[in-house]
Amino acid sequence: MTSDKSSVPGPVSPADSARPVVHEAPRRTPVAADVDVLVVGGGPAGVAAALAAAQSGARTLCIERHGMLGGVWTAGLLNPLFDANNKGWIVQQLIDRLTAAGAWRKWNWTHTFDTETMKLVLEQMMGEAGAEWWYQSMVVDAIVEDGRVRGAIVESKAGREAVLAKVVIDCSGDGDLAARAGAGFDLGRAGDGLCQPMTMMFEVEGLGAFPEQQSSEVLFDHMQEAMERTGKVTLPFGRARNVPWIIHLPQPGTAAVQATHVYGVNALDPRELTRATVEARRQAHELVKVLRGTPHLQGLRITQTAAAIGVREARRVRGRYCLTLEDISAGRRFDDAVTFGTFPLDVHEVNPKDKVRSSRIVKTMPYEIPLRSLLPAGLEGLLVAGRCISGTHEAHASYRVTGTCMGMGQAAGLAAAMAAAENVPPASLVGGALKPALLQRGVGLLEAKKPEEIVGDLYGDKLVWH
Ligand SMILES: Cc1cc2nc3c(=O)[nH]c(=O)nc-3n(C[C@H](O)[C@H](O)[C@H](O)COP(=O)(O)OP(=O)(O)OC[C@H]3O[C@@H](n4cnc5c(N)ncnc54)[C@H](O)[C@@H]3O)c2cc1C
Repeated sequence: MTSDKSSVPGPVSPADSARPVVHEAPRRTPVAADVDVLVVGGGPAGVAAALAAAQSGARTLCIERHGMLGGVWTAGLLNPLFDANNKGWIVQQLIDRLTAAGAWRKWNWTHTFDTETMKLVLEQMMGEAGAEWWYQSMVVDAIVEDGRVRGAIVESKAGREAVLAKVVIDCSGDGDLAARAGAGFDLGRAGDGLCQPMTMMFEVEGLGAFPEQQSSEVLFDHMQEAMERTGKVTLPFGRARNVPWIIHLPQPGTAAVQATHVYGVNALDPRELTRATVEARRQAHELVKVLRGTPHLQGLRITQTAAAIGVREARRVRGRYCLTLEDISAGRRFDDAVTFGTFPLDVHEVNPKDKVRSSRIVKTMPYEIPLRSLLPAGLEGLLVAGRCISGTHEAHASYRVTGTCMGMGQAAGLAAAMAAAENVPPASLVGGALKPALLQRGVGLLEAKKPEEIVGDLYGDKLVWH
């Protein structure tokens, strides 16, 4: 599915054009805040953007629909935190804080964190930086004047309010504000618009002596054996999917589990999201019953399922540069680079019948992400950061991981603060003062690095260089 600027943003269901409509009366909407930088969404990209903007002296407000910061880390119970190595600045500050709190631990080749501590630490960091944030508030529309985004319409228990800003950063994951502002976007795989499956993460306790390094294939074999013995449950995936995944958390005996998959869901339709949530939660409970039949897991218990189902893929906002599969497989560098990625191409099959995992086919080389991919085409005053930046379905399957989303967020936050302070459009920073300012703050970029200095997240493989 694609949308061009000429189409009216908003409708999310193909059935919309056939439905009856009501006409709302014009409204006078009170202005609740007027800030330098407005950040939509407080997930990995959003908190990094808000912290970077606030630490750079901008009056910063972040609007978050849930009652916690962290997005998929907290409301989504996602672990581990991939591709955070060498990103520097805000990313390193977060790692240092989690480490000091005993809430960050090495697991396999990467790291996991404690979800509750993450919520607390993010609130502390935002408070210390002087950033303001509002919970339980949803951005429902954009304020646009002559092609320049001037702010957002926010709905909450306080009603409908306007927030004005010199620069807006859309970190909603789904590109909500950019789409409402009229930005073009793509959704799903080219050709059929199908998106990767959704997954509800859940946390468990009672791991006993379950081995940390046990691969998901071995675990799957144990589960299959238990299933055949009990004959009670059918798993919604085959062995080729390489799941379930038991991810040890810092608290001994606890883990996050990545196992459920719901296919063919449109993340922009609440009816479909509800169906997927109910189905995934059912799968989680059924899976734990089976897992209890495997060695060391007899005492396993779900402590919580995620408040929000994990959405891998929604809108990819069309920007001034579209990051492609060729870019990430060739390890491309850019003059206007703002961060980098090393994660493999992890396309979870959009069709459960697909048997081959993409990361086995295409090797990713450490690649850079340009500022232009964070700048929606045809609009001023707006940046995007996180999984909704401009890229193809395949490239997105690498850059969507949270360490890289934070890298984009911190760059977008600094760009927004600089643009607001100078009263210039963020696009004017392409090829200009942004990169030196990022390097000055300790942001890691590939340009200054030799291959052997880059520690990546290639599923534990050694990095391969041409
Ligand atoms: C099941 C699953 C497993 C994954 N596995 C990993 C993994 O192991 N490691 C890893 O690093 N990454 C993983 N990823 C990828 C990663 O989680 C996401 O791509 C990443 O969270 C994107 O970050 P973000 O900040 O762009 O979006 P999000 O984390 O989605 O954050 C967006 C935030 O915006 C808020 N928001 C959205 N719309 C609005 C609105 N209109 N108004 C106000 N607030 C709004 C949301 O509540 C949320 O807090 C996984 C993703 C999924 C779904």
